[in-house]
Amino acid sequence: MSILFSYNGVAHCSCSCLECFQLVCLLLAKMTALAVVLGGGISGLSSAYYLARSQALRFGKVVVVESSHRTGGWVNTTVSEDGAIFEHGPRSLRTAGAVGKNTLELVSIKNLSESVVPVLSHHAAANKRFIYARNQMHQLPSGLKSVLFTQAPFTKPFISYIMKEPFVKTEIEEDESVHDFIRKRLGNEIADYVMDPLCIGIFAGDARKLSAKSCFPAIFDPARQRGSLIKGLFLQGKEAKSESNCALVKQAKKERWPVWTLQGGLQTLTDKLTDTLMTQHGVEIIKQNQCKQLEFTDNNTIKVTTKDNCYTADHVISAVPATVLSGLLPSNHNILSKLLQEIQQVSVAVINLEFEGNVLPTDGFGYLIPSWEKSKLLGVIYDSCTFPQHNRPGSPTTRLTCMMGGHWFEDNFGDPAIADPEHLLAVAMESLKEQINIEAKPTRSIVNIHKDAIPQYRVGHFKIVDKINKYLDHHNMPLDVIGSSFCGVSVNDCIYNGRRTAEKLLT
Ligand SMILES: Cc1cc2nc3c(=O)[nH]c(=O)nc-3n(C[C@H](O)[C@H](O)[C@H](O)COP(=O)(O)OP(=O)(O)OC[C@H]3O[C@@H](n4cnc5c(N)ncnc54)[C@H](O)[C@@H]3O)c2cc1C
Repeated sequence: MSILFSYNGVAHCSCSCLECFQLVCLLLAKMTALAVVLGGGISGLSSAYYLARSQALRFGKVVVVESSHRTGGWVNTTVSEDGAIFEHGPRSLRTAGAVGKNTLELVSIKNLSESVVPVLSHHAAANKRFIYARNQMHQLPSGLKSVLFTQAPFTKPFISYIMKEPFVKTEIEEDESVHDFIRKRLGNEIADYVMDPLCIGIFAGDARKLSAKSCFPAIFDPARQRGSLIKGLFLQGKEAKSESNCALVKQAKKERWPVWTLQGGLQTLTDKLTDTLMTQHGVEIIKQNQCKQLEFTDNNTIKVTTKDNCYTADHVISAVPATVLSGLLPSNHNILSKLLQEIQQVSVAVINLEFEGNVLPTDGFGYLIPSWEKSKLLGVIYDSCTFPQHNRPGSPTTRLTCMMGGHWFEDNFGDPAIADPEHLLAVAMESLKEQINIEAKPTRSIVNIHKDAIPQYRVGHFKIVDKINKYLDHHNMPLDVIGSSFCGVSVNDCIYNGRRTAEKLLT
């Protein structure tokens, strides 16, 4: 047999044996194989991008089906007519870890390096993060000096909590709530003043319900392995980290950027991925094409029924929320549906405000409010300080974003589907007046109520994800599940998991 495969899909054969015939058939089957990606948010776009980018010829065609009129999902930027930029979803991405590095590499490949707007390590937004507790604003410790001295609201220097932790005898369970895990190891004050607001900042969720293992795996897993949080972090830090040849990654590391965005806002990235996919041979993105149903056929394909089409897919990557996927499955997979239903999301109201002049009490990233304060506000981000490049050109302005609702949405504002934007705005303005003394009328306000926006990884979440993956394996289903419902809510996690899934399919 003398058959040569070339990656452009052309097979050259100099004989006519059966083996060659079978190989050519196999090749043709691959060339016509169809992968359907459900959902055109950052997870779906990334997985489609990494699938289509590869020359490995696993799928001849990739179709992304998206229910709304736009791609990007929660990544959503408004550029106003006068040049100010408002983010309604994510606004900054971290550089840390393998997932942070992966996104910077993607940005670099997509020729967006020049558009990266970093927060530099000496900038106020990198060092000044506040919590509003007991009617006062408190700056959280950052840097060596601040951890050596007692700083309100803490009653001891930060370092004293850290020094004691390796000697804590309590065993770390296979999973615990974020609050329990930190309280047992570092004490009540760190749990209440640091981790409680952090859970609000990332998950809009309750630290007493969220899983330490699934929400903070980079802290929890090494801690459980070494029996101590501090030992785990210290030894993990010493382990070899993979280097990158990417100039942007090197620059981020050298200049110690904590977070970054893009000149035109983060939607620039999802728009760029969308454009790349739309111009790529064999790839289609079909908007306003909600997936209605999945059926598993006897010959191991999936019939994907959408609003306007029907596809027979050799593989489906689901990048829609777990609860959405649950509703698409046939009744004979109700065990899987029930597992997916367990991963619930919370709704958040995002209120973008713009004021004339500088109305902020101080520079910084913004502030969070611990849940036990029972404030109707979750936190406020000082966008104009963090990324002044996104301010309207000309005279000074302040842009800030109020986050509201989350785990407490229904208690505070009722059903998010019918919540009144005017009321939410009024509550936000009242809180800003009380907390940071802003009385000025905003020159611009945009209220968005994001229903079911942020998944909640409750204690035991990892077991649900494990059961879902085992179910898919056991039933040999040509289906993968990605997206913020499963293994990380950050944009970095979503991109990284989209890539890993695509690459797994191609090997
Ligand atoms: C307000 C807010 C602020 C955030 N801030 C940050 C931040 O600063 N930094 C950060 O890293 N992360 C942040 N996040 C988290 C991050 O933005 C999200 O976790 C991430 O964008 C989720 O992407 P995804 O593609 O998994 O899901 P989604 O964005 O939800 O995308 C899913 C897509 O599927 C589509 N869809 C749904 N049902 C169907 C169907 N039946 N058929 C076809 N399509 C369907 C939807 O329209 C959507 O486009 C924030 C999130 C929110 C909500």
